[in-house]
Amino acid sequence: MQKYVLTIDQGTTSTRASLIDKEGNVFYKSQQEIKCFFPHDGWVEQDAIDVWLSVLNVINDLLAKTNLTYANIDSIGLTNQRETTIIWDKKTGMPVYNALVWQSRQSAYICDALADKTQLVREKTGLIINPYFSASKIRFILDHIENGQKRAENGELMFGTIDTWVMYKLSSGKIFKTDVTNASRTMLFNINTLEWDDELLRLFNIPKIMLPEVCPSSHFFGYASLLKKNLKICGVAGDQQAALFGQNCVKEGDVKSTYGTGCFVLMNVGEKPIYDKGGLITTIAWQIDEKVIYAIEGSVFVAGASIQWLRDQMRMIKKASESEKYALNCDSCLGVYVVPAFVGLGAPYWDDDCRGAVFGLTRGTTKEHFIRATLNSIALQTKDVIKEMERISSKKIDSLRVDGGASENNYLMQYQSDILSSKVILPKNLETTSLGAAYLAGLASGYWKNIDEISKVHKIQKTFEPKMAQEEVLEIDKKWKKAIEATRIFK
Ligand code: ADP
Repeated sequence: MQKYVLTIDQGTTSTRASLIDKEGNVFYKSQQEIKCFFPHDGWVEQDAIDVWLSVLNVINDLLAKTNLTYANIDSIGLTNQRETTIIWDKKTGMPVYNALVWQSRQSAYICDALADKTQLVREKTGLIINPYFSASKIRFILDHIENGQKRAENGELMFGTIDTWVMYKLSSGKIFKTDVTNASRTMLFNINTLEWDDELLRLFNIPKIMLPEVCPSSHFFGYASLLKKNLKICGVAGDQQAALFGQNCVKEGDVKSTYGTGCFVLMNVGEKPIYDKGGLITTIAWQIDEKVIYAIEGSVFVAGASIQWLRDQMRMIKKASESEKYALNCDSCLGVYVVPAFVGLGAPYWDDDCRGAVFGLTRGTTKEHFIRATLNSIALQTKDVIKEMERISSKKIDSLRVDGGASENNYLMQYQSDILSSKVILPKNLETTSLGAAYLAGLASGYWKNIDEISKVHKIQKTFEPKMAQEEVLEIDKKWKKAIEATRIFK
């Protein structure tokens, strides 16, 4: 009987389920949108029950449409939006508050009060103090429900990121676990000792009793008994880490960049963490058996979203994909630079307060130049993160693996290759997040024997080679740096 790994990718905007076969092909997928609520400016929440039901729906839909049964499923791999925080009642299994989504900033005041702990937090967790991560979100919920602290201390409440919540539900409350990659985004997990950190727990006054057990990413977590008695969950990882694995970035120095709404760049740095003093964070890439692999990560806030802006606000294009045709309709951007700092700048600058800018306009500037310059800005921001990674790791990056919606833009990928003077590699299967979760699960279940076997089934669609002359690269780089500086001055 043909068997597949079933992967669940619970993302911020949608939940997807797919079936992956031994050759790493995605056999079928099913998707459902997730609603976000914005109760106040900067707050982003989701209904945790909605999230859970979407998981059930996509699995049911997938099996119904493929005429397969659970007997065709080897194991389950789970990947998820990271940091999003859910607290539920142990007795009823019902959430006590909406899920606080990673982008949500309602707990910023808790983080602001901890400014003097920056170094401590960096050394233990690899993170910067920011409401993005789960710790201050847990504190916020405990402070905004009745007797929150007391109930947590009495062991009546349970905390989980999305993976923990989904596994808890899939196992009818039997599995209360997370994996190291998700734990490493809570700001409570010591990435050196691989344990919940008592000092950090004290700092946020969070009782340990409410935290799940932390396991390797490729591991038998338990049975999804709600679906079928002996259906194993064997792989769990946060979405960006899963994508790194799904891109076959298994060697030290391998880097991937995902071009979605924002852009997430992760570099495999091997078995020892590297810490930055600046804008890059350190995180766990995955754990297989005893072996832990670390990564450094940088995120660009606005990448593909700048193309949505061209479409929806500027009304220059009708579809994101049209941007390529317009960009190729001119020979250069005619000296135009767009800095899409709509919500500030992410890594390596972390400047919340600056806003977007356009430089170099002339009477000759056309819509084509403007679109081309906006696409260029995605590549230039990514280059800034990668140059910082090269500096910190003392490694020259000679190839970059890419995925995400905007990686389908050939102009953008060629420009990325030019500006980095590196190869840019597009995989055959762009669903790298689901692939990564499947690989992690299949390694633990025995569906694949080892990483070498997985590397063999990983297929490349296209490679972009750098073509731009070095003088031109340097000239562009100089102008871009000036544009960033000027953008940051104008506040
Ligand atoms: P997310 O997972 O963040 O929702 P996706 O990976 O689905 O993002 O990618 C969608 C983003 O990519 C959108 O912001 C869209 O504007 C951009 N995008 C999609 N196709 C293209 C394209 N051909 N050229 C440039 N940008 C694109």
